[in-house]
Amino acid sequence: MKAISQALPKSIEMALTSNICSNHAKPVGMMIIEGVEICPACELAKENAAFAKSMSDQILAQESKKKKNTLYYKSIFADETLRNASFGKFFAESEEEVKNKDLAIQAFKHYKGAKVFTTLLQGDTGVGKSHLAMSILRNLNEKMDVECVFISVREMMTKIRDSFDNKESKYTQLYFVDMLSRVDFLCLDDLGAETGAIDTRKTATNFTLEVLTAIFEARQNKSTIITSNLSRKQMEDMYDKKLISRSFKNIAVIKFDNIRDKRIVAFDLTQEV
Ligand SMILES: [Zn+2]
Repeated sequence: MKAISQALPKSIEMALTSNICSNHAKPVGMMIIEGVEICPACELAKENAAFAKSMSDQILAQESKKKKNTLYYKSIFADETLRNASFGKFFAESEEEVKNKDLAIQAFKHYKGAKVFTTLLQGDTGVGKSHLAMSILRNLNEKMDVECVFISVREMMTKIRDSFDNKESKYTQLYFVDMLSRVDFLCLDDLGAETGAIDTRKTATNFTLEVLTAIFEARQNKSTIITSNLSRKQMEDMYDKKLISRSFKNIAVIKFDNIRDKRIVAFDLTQEV
C-alpha cells in the first residue's frame, strides 16, 4: 500500500466506513483505502514510527562509522607504515616472535570478551611491539562497535608543545586529554621515549607527567595498550610511582627479550657488485 499520507482520497467522507477504531483518545472512523479498511490514525502512527526508526538507524550507523574512523584519521604514528599493521602482516620467525604474536592475539580475544586490563608490550626498539599493538587495535576496531586510537607519545608531546606557540594548532593538551580519555581502546606507543635516553635515568618533566596523569586517571576503568622500552619498574621511577601502580594494577606483559631489529634489512656486503 502507498504511504497513508499520499493515499488519502480527495473526499474523505466517500471513504469512511461505519466502523471506528478505539485505540485513540477519541474514536477514529475507519476508511477504505485501495480496497482495504484501515484506521488512518493508526497507519500514520506506524509510518511515523518507521520513519523515526529509519532516522535513528541512520544516525547510529553514522556514529558507528565516525567511531571507526578515529583509528585511521586521528591516530598519530611515529612510523607511518604502522598504519597498515595487522596480525597477518606480522612475520613471526623466532620462537619468541611466534609466542608474542599468539599472546597479542589472546589479548585481543580477552578485550573482545569485555575484560578490562592493560597490555604492556615491552622490549627494545624495532622488535615489532608497535606492530602487534596496532594489530590488536585494528581487530577490535573491525570486530566491535568501539572507538580506538593509536598515539605515539613523543609525537603527541611535541604537538602539544608546539600548540603553546601556535594558537592555530588543534593539537592542544585539551584535545589529546579529551580524546585519549574518551576512546574505548588506546595504544600509547613508545612510552618513555618522550623523555629522551633512558640510560641517563631521566625522570619525566612535570608537563609530561601532567598530561599522562590526566589520561591515566580518566582511563582507570578502560583498557590501554602500552609499548615501551621501559620495564614497569623503570616506569615507576620515571613517572609517578603511585600513578603507575594504580593505572597498571591489572597488567599483561608481553616481553621481547631477544629479537633483532625487524626494521633493519641486513645488506650483504660480500655479494657481487
Ligand atoms: Zn486507530
